[in-house]
Amino acid sequence: MSTIFSKIAAGEIPSYRVAADERHYAFLDINPVAPGHVLVIPRKEDDYIFHLSDDDYQALTLFAKRVAEAIREAVPCKRVGVAVIGLEVPHTHIHLIPINTEADMDF
Ligand code: 5GP
Repeated sequence: MSTIFSKIAAGEIPSYRVAADERHYAFLDINPVAPGHVLVIPRKEDDYIFHLSDDDYQALTLFAKRVAEAIREAVPCKRVGVAVIGLEVPHTHIHLIPINTEADMDF
C-alpha cells in the first residue's frame, strides 16, 4: 500500500515542505482552513495515530511540537491549534493550524 501522503513524503507528489527528518515530514495543507495550516506525518504508513508504537507516537508528537514552535514564530497567531481528524486520508497525520480568532477559521 502507498498512500498519497507517502507519495508526498517521498517527493513523488509535489508539496510545500515545511520540515522533515528521517522519520517525519511536514507540509502545507492543500486546502487550508487558515493560512499556515500544516500537516505532520510519520513516513511509516499507519492509518490511526493510536495504533503507533509508544516510541513512534512520542517521536511524532515531539516532531509536531517542534514544527508548531516554528509555525508560531513564522505566522502571526495567538496559538497553533492541533487536530487529529483522519476522515479523508488513511495515513496518520496531525493538523497544525495557526489561530487568531474564531472569525479567521473556515470550518
Ligand atoms: P483528514 O484526513 O484529516 O480529514 O484530512 C486530510 C487533509 O489532507 C485535508 O485537510 C486535505 O486538505 C489534505 N490533503 C488531502 N490531499 C492532499 C494533497 O494531495 N496535498 C496536500 N498538501 N494536502 C492534502
